[in-house]
Amino acid sequence: MAVVVTVAVPVPALQALSYRVPDGMAVPPVGGRVRVPLGRRVVTGCVLDAPDADSDSDTPLPPVELKDLLESLDPEPYLPREVIDLALWVAEYYACGPGESLAAAMPPAALTASGRDGGFRKERVVRLTSAGHDALLAGTAGRLGPRQRAALQRLTGFPDGLGTARLKDDGVSASTVARLRERGLVALDARRVDRDPFASGELGSLEPPGGLGVGHEPTGEQQAALAALGALARERVFRVALLHGVTGSGKTEVYLRLAREVVTAGRRVLVLVPEIALTPAVTQTFRKAFGDRVAIQHSALSAGERHDQWHRIRRGEVDVVVGTRSAVFAPLDGVGLLVVDEEHDTSYKQEESPRYHARSVAIVRAQRAGALVVLGSATPSLETFHHARRGRYRHVALTERVHRRPLPAVQVVDMRSEMASEAGEAGEAAIGRSLAGALEETLARGEQALILLNRRGFAAAVLCRQCGRTFECPNCSVSLTLHRRAGRVRCHYCNYSVARPSTCAHCAGPYLETVGFGTERVEAEVAELVPDATVARLDRDAARRRGAGQSLLARFRAGEIDVLVGTQMIAKGHDFPNVTLVGVVSADVGLQVADFRAAEHTFQLLTQVAGRAGRGERPGTAIVQSFHPEHYSVVHACSQEYVPFFDEEMRYRTALRYPPVVSMVNAIVRGRSPEGAMRDAARMAAMLRAARSTFEVLGPAVAPISRLRGQHRAQIFLKGVNRRTMHTVLRSTLDSNPDLGRRVTIDVDPISLL
Ligand code: ADP
Ligand code: ZN
Repeated sequence: MAVVVTVAVPVPALQALSYRVPDGMAVPPVGGRVRVPLGRRVVTGCVLDAPDADSDSDTPLPPVELKDLLESLDPEPYLPREVIDLALWVAEYYACGPGESLAAAMPPAALTASGRDGGFRKERVVRLTSAGHDALLAGTAGRLGPRQRAALQRLTGFPDGLGTARLKDDGVSASTVARLRERGLVALDARRVDRDPFASGELGSLEPPGGLGVGHEPTGEQQAALAALGALARERVFRVALLHGVTGSGKTEVYLRLAREVVTAGRRVLVLVPEIALTPAVTQTFRKAFGDRVAIQHSALSAGERHDQWHRIRRGEVDVVVGTRSAVFAPLDGVGLLVVDEEHDTSYKQEESPRYHARSVAIVRAQRAGALVVLGSATPSLETFHHARRGRYRHVALTERVHRRPLPAVQVVDMRSEMASEAGEAGEAAIGRSLAGALEETLARGEQALILLNRRGFAAAVLCRQCGRTFECPNCSVSLTLHRRAGRVRCHYCNYSVARPSTCAHCAGPYLETVGFGTERVEAEVAELVPDATVARLDRDAARRRGAGQSLLARFRAGEIDVLVGTQMIAKGHDFPNVTLVGVVSADVGLQVADFRAAEHTFQLLTQVAGRAGRGERPGTAIVQSFHPEHYSVVHACSQEYVPFFDEEMRYRTALRYPPVVSMVNAIVRGRSPEGAMRDAARMAAMLRAARSTFEVLGPAVAPISRLRGQHRAQIFLKGVNRRTMHTVLRSTLDSNPDLGRRVTIDVDPISLL
């Protein structure tokens, strides 16, 4: 009598596998972790299906010989049923393996060998040294063996390094790493692990001096919103509401009071925020109201901290979970309310497998739990507002800032005329005259300013004046960005970098010039413009060190920094009452991207960053520099009006048949040569077309980034109104062509098409 269990293993695109429970081993529970043999490896998987331990039904053995489970790690389910089902939905919908989505639903390392006893206190990571980078660029890597070269290539995209276990999974052996280390091309670090996220004070103390439950007296509009949302929550059935509140309208207070009602009624609350490390306000607010009945889940916590927080949730010790994207899988029982704050934010989409969108997963979770979802934003995604318009989501509005504070006055500066009038003297400046003048006045009044440019580095590219060529990444088809302070040029896609060149790599010409601006350059310019002011920069480079972004924001809040220059990181939900000026160096950066969402993202970014101005007692101004001031995304962001933007954008989406009018899948086919990638993509497109289904197949075409991390890329789009048929055909095509399947990346409901 053999007992057979189905196990999901953390291997990309692999379906669940069957294993035999050896005699004498207790049948592991559904949701328990088990160690199983897989090829020549041993991996940790999660049980998806097992016969009832009490039933003595005799499972007929399938014809193939099954391997035995090696070990059962959890006598009780590690994951609750609800989360397993949610992860299986993700695997199905986003076309990935169940093991991948289950791994995303667990705390880090729960499925690696070290996950055995939750002891993830130290992890060995391997990273490229600058010598390693240089070897790759200079081509001296050619003198290495193929394994060592492959290992170096593997590490290029990971500035913080890759764990040794992960590398091993990718076929990089310990001896290869050891040899590279002897040559000084890689370094080994032990990642520091801190178990108490509250010890550093970055998340606020447990008991605020004012005691639990302090908040604002709600305004009339907040009260009305609460009444509408409260009524929906009390129905205890699946509902979706859009809390559409202008910047500074006090949405957080509404979430908080609603959460309190739901918890009082005996259910639990999950709050998703885009980037918790940068938006501590929501976390703080909830900690003040719920004390230690709140758990935090986000990737800036160490593995150990996340593990501890996760288990507090699992044990039922908390009522509220606040977290980023992956917290949508939190093992929280009895959820009655899910909040997705700044629901339009693209960080809710995971850009690696499983490529899920946390907003969509939250909605599915609510549907199954009979819960209310509140999607909050001043600039809703087209998808969300489209549903609200059609009555599928309840639209709840906050039309004014609290205390009737005015929205910022936005002024557009046409850079074509501004540049022309300055030609000769400061024609190259990133900051035009109007913005420079406003900056000086703001600082003279003792107020603060934010300056946005959504591109990091000093200059977008380095160009040779002799042959006209730019420095390109050896792995990707993009220009290398100059980072002046680091003295390097760097790829923003794979993070490859090399010392700043002094002569052209192509013609050895000595005259190199820089093209375009980045935040580093703007920071330097501002510092020159207002020499007495304290200027700082916040972008991914500045925030690389753990807690660095947080501390910059804290210093800005405390008034120790006068001007903060940064990328979209400075636009996210921050509430700085003393900021009265917001400057946008170039509204056009995002419009140059070849993507149907370019206008939407530009509108959202401009409206959000402008919305950081004048949130305190003094009114705010935003100055937006643009070479396309007549572009509708710029025009409507400047009038701070959502609906006219939505209507105009929907006309384009309807005419060109893009989401939310249709559903879309982006399939990227990778190959060793451009021809190989195109050939495979053409083969796949032909198979999809042969299915003669209801959806359109577009392509193949060369992807906008034609080479990424050393691989050539071709692209196919699927567009249709019936998602299910699209997914079914796609899946059966890939399942019946596994060789092709391994070279294809499927992105369902893509946010970025690059
Ligand atoms: P939003 O997320 O809608 O942009 P926030 O939730 O950050 O806005 O609130 C903006 C500011 O208004 C915050 O400083 C908040 O503390 C304050 N605020 C919110 N509600 C009230 C209220 N009812 N009375 C006074 N101040 C409030
Ligand atoms: Zn690159």
